[in-house]
Parts: sequence; structure tokens; C-alpha cells
Amino acid sequence: MVPLPRALSPVVHDVRHQRGAPITTLRIGLGEDTHRLAPGGPLRLGGIDIPHDQHLLGHSDADVLLHAVTDALLGAACLPDIGQLFPNTDPANKDRDSAEMLRSACDRVESAGWKIVNLDCVVLAQEPRLGPYKESLRTRLAEILSLGVGQVNVKGKTGEGVGPIGEKQIIQARCVVLLEKRA
Ligand code: MG
Repeated sequence: MVPLPRALSPVVHDVRHQRGAPITTLRIGLGEDTHRLAPGGPLRLGGIDIPHDQHLLGHSDADVLLHAVTDALLGAACLPDIGQLFPNTDPANKDRDSAEMLRSACDRVESAGWKIVNLDCVVLAQEPRLGPYKESLRTRLAEILSLGVGQVNVKGKTGEGVGPIGEKQIIQARCVVLLEKRA
């Protein structure tokens, strides 16, 4: 067998000798969500109300960013997804505050023995431009998740004027999160 570079050998050693057991104490999760836009503001996004002439449609408060974060967290911990935990057929979830659902998902993740290392999010929206709200979004997400603002990042991208994002029919959000097993 070709000898492994010194820097890689401890990692590969773990993989070889822990069959069936978690290889590392880290887990990554991915969440994505889409909601349609309709006339009339404000725009509920990331747990804050942003002044805008459109809002998102959904069974809950349709907070596309919080839904993506919720699914990223649940996915990283291999827990049921947001649609399974908070079905859109359940009247209890009608107009529900997505911050509540995210906090509940976070509690489940923590109960399963995980803590959040960091999360990084992208919101794809032609309008409004999210630059002016970036810090408010980071602060609110950190508050909901009981994290430091330095553990949370949010980026805004437009749809370059094309497709359903660019034509202001929808807003999409994506989130990746890293979890670490509690010692
Ligand atoms: Mg959703």
C-alpha cells in the first residue's frame, strides 16, 4: 500500500477502524426553500419585517430563510424535515411564526447531542436588495438560535432579471450549517 501523507493518515486511520461508528464529531446540513411572492408588504424574511411592496405566500408565515435554516439544522442531525415536523396540512401551523418552528427544531438538534458551529445562508431575491438588512438578519438569526453573530452569515443575490427569481415571482433561500457533537 502506498504510504499516506502524514497529514492525512490520522483521518484515514479513523475511517478504517470505526466501521459503523460516526467518523467525526462534525456534521454538515443543507436546507433550501422556495416561496411565491404576492402583492402587498411587508416582506417577512429571516424573522424580521422588511419594508417592501410584496410578501411571500405560504401556510405558515412563509419565511423562506428561516425554513431553509430549519431544514439545514434538522438534516445535519438526521432528524425528520420541516415538512414532517410542521406539515402544511395542520391548522396549528397556519400563519405560524417560523421563528417558533426554527427554535423548536434547534431544541431537537441540541437534545440529540449537537451544537451549532456556524451557518451560512444565501437569499435569492431580485427585490428588495438585502444589503441594508444583512446585519439585522444576522442578528435576528443569532438571537433565535442563541448564537453569536459571528457564527451566522447571510448573503443576498439577485436573479439577474431572468427566471422566476429575476422576474420577482419567487424568493429562494439556501443554508448550510455545521454541527459539532457535544463532548
Ligand atoms: Mg417553506
